Amino acid sequence: MEAVPRYTPEQRVRMSLAPPHEPTPTRALRRRHSDFGDHHASPGCDELIVMDDLETLQRAVLRANERGLRIRVRGRGHSMNGSSLARPGELLLTTASASRYRLERPGTITVGAGAAIYDVHAMLRARGLGLLVYNDGDQAAPSVGGYVSAGGFGEASDVHGGFWETVTDVTMVAGDGRVLDCRPGDALFPWLFGSMGQLGIIHEVTLRITADAGAVYPLGERGVVPASAPRWERLLWYTIFAPARRGAAAARELGAIGRRFAHLWRARPDYAYNLRFHRFNPPLIHPAQEDLVAVGVWGDAPGPEGFDHEAFRAVDREVMAMLRRNPDLRRYLQSELTFAGLDHRACFGAEVHARFLEHVARLDPRGVLRRF
Ligand SMILES: Cc1cc2nc3c(=O)[nH]c(=O)nc-3n(C[C@H](O)[C@H](O)[C@H](O)COP(=O)(O)OP(=O)(O)OC[C@H]3O[C@@H](n4cnc5c(N)ncnc54)[C@H](O)[C@@H]3O)c2cc1C
Repeated sequence: MEAVPRYTPEQRVRMSLAPPHEPTPTRALRRRHSDFGDHHASPGCDELIVMDDLETLQRAVLRANERGLRIRVRGRGHSMNGSSLARPGELLLTTASASRYRLERPGTITVGAGAAIYDVHAMLRARGLGLLVYNDGDQAAPSVGGYVSAGGFGEASDVHGGFWETVTDVTMVAGDGRVLDCRPGDALFPWLFGSMGQLGIIHEVTLRITADAGAVYPLGERGVVPASAPRWERLLWYTIFAPARRGAAAARELGAIGRRFAHLWRARPDYAYNLRFHRFNPPLIHPAQEDLVAVGVWGDAPGPEGFDHEAFRAVDREVMAMLRRNPDLRRYLQSELTFAGLDHRACFGAEVHARFLEHVARLDPRGVLRRF
C-alpha cells in the first residue's frame, strides 16, 4: 500500500480557472449562447423561465410535466459539458436573479441558488464571516446551485472537506413538481451533489459559515448578494478523485496523459487537493467513505479557431481508459469538457449509476430534467 499523500500549500497549485465571458445577461439566452470556454453552444431558446420565488419555480416544473417538455437549468454557465444549454424544443430556466440571502440562524447563511459562491463568500468576509468551502480562482464562477450540482471543493477542503460537508439544507423542486426540503441524514441528500440537477431544481441552500474572532452575526439581516463581473482566461482541466492512499498513483497516471497531449494546450503545473472526510462523500463524486484527493492536469486552451475537438476527444478516451484500468478512481466529469455519448456507467461505476437512476426515476418519472 502506498503512503498517504498529503499536499502542502506549495505543492497545491491554485486552480485559478478561467474563461472568456461575463455572466450572460438573461435576455441574451434567447440568442446563441455557450458554456464555459465556448465549447458547446445553443442557438437560443423559445421559452425562458426566470427563477425567482419557489411558487414560480414549482409552477414551471408542473407545466413542463403537463406539456411533456424538458427543462434545462442554467446557473452561471460555468460548466463545460453543454448541460446548461437548451436544445430545440426545451425550456430554459435561468437562476440568475435568485440571489437573495438571509442571516437568520447564527453560524449559517441561507442563499438563493443563483448567487455566485464566491460572491457569497466575499459578502460575508466584509462582515468578518465566510464560507467554509468555496471555489478557487478568487473570482465569481459557479452559482450556489451549480456548485451543489457539480459536487464542489476548494482550497479549504483540506480542512473542511468537500462543499457537501458544509450544506445543512437544500430546498428544491423535484422533477415531478414536489417541493422537497433535503437535509444531511436524508437518504436523498448525498445524491444531490454531482447530480447535475437531474433530481430537482435547487431553489435555496443553507450553509454553515465561519466567523472571525469578535465578529458579530447580523441576526435578521437579509438582502441580495452583490454580483461581481469576473474576467477569465480560457482554460481546460481534467480532475480525478482518488482515495487519499491512491492519490500519488492517480497523479502519476493522469500526469502522463497530460504530457502525451502537451502539444494541445499551454500546460500549467499539475494540481492536487486534499478533501478531508467528515460525514460522507457523495456517491457521484466517489463512493469511498474516507479522505479523498482530487488530482488534475490543466492548461490554457487555444482559441476557437485553433481548438481541435477531435484531439480533445482523444484525451477524453485516454481518461476513460484510465478509469477502466483503475475501478477505484472517478473523474470530475461535472466540471469538465465532455462530449455526447459519455459512458456515465463507466464514470460512476455500475452500482452507483444504477442507484442514481432509481432516484431519478422516482423524482422525475417523466424525464423533465433528465440529461443522461
Ligand atoms: C472558472 C471556474 C472555476 C471553477 N472552480 C471550481 C472549484 O474551485 N471547485 C469546483 O468544485 N468546481 C469548480 N468549477 C466547476 C464548477 O463548479 C461547475 O462547473 C459548476 O457546475 C458550474 O456552476 P454554474 O452555476 O456555472 O452552473 P451551469 O454551468 O449553469 O450548470 C451546470 C449544471 O448544474 C445544473 N444546475 C445549475 N444550477 C442549478 C440549480 N439551481 N438546480 C439544479 N441544477 C442546477 C445545470 O442544469 C447543469 O447541469 C469551476 C468552473 C469554472 C469555469
